[in-house]
Amino acid sequence: MPSHSMPSHQRSIDLTIPDQRSGAASSLTRPGARSGATCPACGSERLTALAMTLTDGTPVSFSSCHDCEHRTWSDAAGQLDFADVLVRTAKRK
Ligand SMILES: [Zn+2]
Repeated sequence: MPSHSMPSHQRSIDLTIPDQRSGAASSLTRPGARSGATCPACGSERLTALAMTLTDGTPVSFSSCHDCEHRTWSDAAGQLDFADVLVRTAKRK
């Protein structure tokens, strides 16, 4: 006799950006992409850069500034608008 019922699934974060923490992710980082990178908003070098792949298969680089929290997305063609990233990520067909 079950004494309690737990939620079947605790889906805390199902945001738009897929989280890829596999070792292969680092291979997507272009050489020199992170060295000398500065925040376009405040010029800080305290950026966190990581590579990920959008839902539509586009490999992108994501940079987040520690100082002003400005976030930059870029792909092979250059900087992306965050809205564009969301649109691409939202496509699940
Ligand atoms: Zn900044």
